[in-house]
Amino acid sequence: ASGGSTSAIKQVKLDKECEIRIEVGNETPLRLRLLSGTAEIFGAELPPEIWLTFPPRHKFAVFTWYGATIEMDGETESDYTADETPMVSYVNVHAILEGRRNRARASPPDSNSSQGPRVIVVGPTDSGKSTLSRMLLSWAAKQGWKPTFVDLDVGQGFITIPGSIAATPIELPIDPVEGVPLEMPLVYFYGHVTPSNNVDLYKVLVKELADILERQFAGNAESRAAGMVINTMGWIEGVGYELIQHAITTFNANVVLVLDQEKLFSMLKKDVLKNNPNVDVVKLQKSGGVVSRSNKFRQRTRSFRIREYFYGPGNDLSPHANIANFSDLSIYRIGGGPQAPHSALPIGAKSVADPLRLAPVNINRDLLHVVLAVSFAKEPEQIISSNVAGFIYVTDVDIQRKKITYLAPSPGDLPSKFLIMGTLTWLET
Ligand code: ATP
Repeated sequence: ASGGSTSAIKQVKLDKECEIRIEVGNETPLRLRLLSGTAEIFGAELPPEIWLTFPPRHKFAVFTWYGATIEMDGETESDYTADETPMVSYVNVHAILEGRRNRARASPPDSNSSQGPRVIVVGPTDSGKSTLSRMLLSWAAKQGWKPTFVDLDVGQGFITIPGSIAATPIELPIDPVEGVPLEMPLVYFYGHVTPSNNVDLYKVLVKELADILERQFAGNAESRAAGMVINTMGWIEGVGYELIQHAITTFNANVVLVLDQEKLFSMLKKDVLKNNPNVDVVKLQKSGGVVSRSNKFRQRTRSFRIREYFYGPGNDLSPHANIANFSDLSIYRIGGGPQAPHSALPIGAKSVADPLRLAPVNINRDLLHVVLAVSFAKEPEQIISSNVAGFIYVTDVDIQRKKITYLAPSPGDLPSKFLIMGTLTWLET
């Protein structure tokens, strides 16, 4: 039975292999704790007796392998217990990956077999890709591995703000409330929330990220054996399908987990195995608990993610307002510009529609409310191939005095004057 609750503290007893699915109410947070037994949230075990606080609208499940009693305090939009979940099939995948990690660790470091599983999770929107990625990573981390989490979803970034692709080692099970720690992930800024804005740029950045991880793995047997889990976006038709194939080959994925879709599974099985017969393409069921999210909801989570970057997950950080002279900053945009037919260009000239063209941006009021990435590039030419240090948010542009005011997560000078602008904006609320 589904339905919201408004009562105060309530106890819920969960039988083995059952979960309670919770949508926190719109207004107030929900507190929850484990009273007895053992339970986990998306692969991360709950500490006994300690209250955890989940923000409004948060959607999650508490699952138990052997039975548990939990206590909840606060309003929910809905909460219900389910005894049918795909968790056993998910944990079986984990067991197979675990075997491969152990084999990789036992192999001579220079051999091919020292590479652990490179798992890519694909499926339509709202099929539970991020959630499955998260469980596989947390279960591996619990067993002492440090798998690399790669997030290629520019729409609903899990590691950092939207519009980016990123990677980070996962050293501990992922915190059910705070998510992935934001310390020092490897981030490339694409600048848009859908790959269709600039497919070529998206592919180039995916390649950059894959190359850099490949180099890191070469020198680190431990993370090589632990392997990676790659989360993708829900765009699976047409160009979206091409991008999935591109990610599989670029990252040399050897396990493809397809959630929910028979058609996608059979297409990928055919196309992927044609290129590389050693890849395992596995079909997995979607959990009935995955919540569909409207475009409006997605927009809201995007904006929430940006807020979180500057203010911290629990509103516990205070960003710094800084002022810079126009002349201190060099802002660039990648690609775009008005379309000019190739025939109209002088021979040898680069089309302004070149998707990888770097164009300086004039500073004006258009920058207001824009989120900019701070590149590690030393020269403009390196911008596309460089990862980013972080982000700033433009809160004021004073044309007369030629000064920009911006929020940054830390005080002091920016690590570089090269900034990247896309179409990502944010309205602070
Ligand atoms: P996207 O379309 O953004 O790629 P996705 O396929 O990655 O989505 P998730 O983000 O994993 O989907 O899941 C969608 C939402 O459903 C999330 O808010 C997640 O926390 C929630 N969810 C997933 N599994 C469960 C479950 N078993 N019970 C309750 N909520 C769940």
